[in-house]
Amino acid sequence: MGASAMRGRRAVFLDRDGVINHNVLNPATGELEAPLTAAEFKVLPGVPEALRSLQKAGYLLFVVSNQPNYAKGKSTLDELRAIDGKLQRELAAMRVEMAEMYYCRHHPEGVVPEYSVVCECRKPSPYFLRKAAREFGIDLGQSWMVGDRVTDVECGRAAGVRTALVGTSGMPCVEADWTGEDLAEAVEHILSVQVREDGNAQLC
Ligand SMILES: [Mg+2]
Ligand SMILES: [Zn+2]
Repeated sequence: MGASAMRGRRAVFLDRDGVINHNVLNPATGELEAPLTAAEFKVLPGVPEALRSLQKAGYLLFVVSNQPNYAKGKSTLDELRAIDGKLQRELAAMRVEMAEMYYCRHHPEGVVPEYSVVCECRKPSPYFLRKAAREFGIDLGQSWMVGDRVTDVECGRAAGVRTALVGTSGMPCVEADWTGEDLAEAVEHILSVQVREDGNAQLC
């Protein structure tokens, strides 16, 4: 058994909106936000190939996503479940398996009482990454968080994983280990780092 196998498995934790699927322009706020309906949920280009190459390289894949739209009264739980269902069908069609999909549906300032709480799972909390590490035997030091917001980077750093920030339109983020365009580019980087480090480890 090699050193890496003894240390635990590698994982990539993926934010959902803006990484796997398009954010959607909310005309009311002018902001890019999570889709509110399954019809609005569309996978970004290059995502199936990128996820399959991580899978092929032996990474466990997780979705870690804040979904406060029910708590905020902007969406129904059924609508959110329909979006989850569409993602699951799309992943199956891509032949990609997620080890787990973690959703925080809370918001500290929501309008639905039982979901409007200060919870322990909302990013930037590293709660779900630590839970995954315990339950799946993951080596966080060899793992990555990929997101499109600074809170994703903060979550990853708090958990001790490496961080990739996508969709920054070339704006570098000092907090992230890597910044770039999209998931496909991030995965290319993640795999190149692994090849380099595994190569170095063999030389020692
Ligand atoms: Mg996002
Ligand atoms: Zn939560």
